Amino acid sequence: MKIALCVKQVPDTTDIRWTENNTMQREGVESVINPYDIYATELALNIAEELKDVEITAFTMGPSQAESMLKKLISIGIDNGVLISDRKFAGSDTYATGKTIAAAIKTAMPDFDLIICGQFAVDGDTAQTGPSIAGNLNIPQVTYVRTFEKVDKKHIILKRELDDGVETVKVNYPALICVLQDTYEPRRPLINGIKLASCTQIRILSAEDIGLKDEETGLKGSPTYVSRAYRNLSNHNAQKYELSVDESVNILKTEINQYCHSELVSESPNYHEGQEDA
Ligand code: FAD
Repeated sequence: MKIALCVKQVPDTTDIRWTENNTMQREGVESVINPYDIYATELALNIAEELKDVEITAFTMGPSQAESMLKKLISIGIDNGVLISDRKFAGSDTYATGKTIAAAIKTAMPDFDLIICGQFAVDGDTAQTGPSIAGNLNIPQVTYVRTFEKVDKKHIILKRELDDGVETVKVNYPALICVLQDTYEPRRPLINGIKLASCTQIRILSAEDIGLKDEETGLKGSPTYVSRAYRNLSNHNAQKYELSVDESVNILKTEINQYCHSELVSESPNYHEGQEDA
């Protein structure tokens, strides 16, 4: 069985910087594996422990520094790593990203059975990439997966989380799944794994390698663009009081009344002074 695992490197910082195109500055920024992708990795490794002859290849689209993340994944048991990297991919929106990753999987692992993604990336957070890859490859997708119940070489039975319960879904391969956080304890690399990772070659795929034309990827292949990016600065003031319970309650009542009054004035064009507060 062949599994393609999609993992993304995300900035390990709250100090987000932007490029001139209003996209996130990723190069030269301290990065970590996207937390949801750790659970996607664990799910892939658990499938490999359940069945024999499972080959897992991790795919990431990003700058060259993402190679170290692929090596880390190899040190915990992933078999191969593919870095999809080319200046031409810069500025890709989720549409172009889905198309590019799908083309890379078709190139490096055309006979895949299962593609496993995280549900969200904590930086972009659109949850569109997995479904977009599935759409490009014309295969079924199962999202919001918590875990699997049963797996064999033809299909997998999954537990997917809904707002009002848990759904059990059986899907035949080839298929794509998007994984939520679960209770797995992510594993740590062993010394043999680290040695293996250091001598494993990471395959690097360019736009030309995966057969994408200039207008199909990067900024040119992206129908959406970021018109403005800004930081949401908090302008809340804090005050410290040391008072009795009764005094505290009175202060809170006054503060809440003042807050409600100012909200009412700012939100209602028909509000006039003297009207009774809500
Ligand atoms: P989600 O869809 O929330 O991620 C879900 C899962 O998909 C992840 O858990 C992972 O399994 C998989 N996945 C997501 N991204 C990758 C990846 N790169 N490799 C492997 N697996 C992945 N980003 C840039 O780096 N440079 C840019 O110049 C740039 N320009 C952009 C311009 C626009 C207009 C927009 C909208 C986005 C741009 N982005 C850019 C962001 C880029 O499109 C997203 O990072 C990418 O599409 C993933 O989307 P997401 O972060 O919402 O991931």
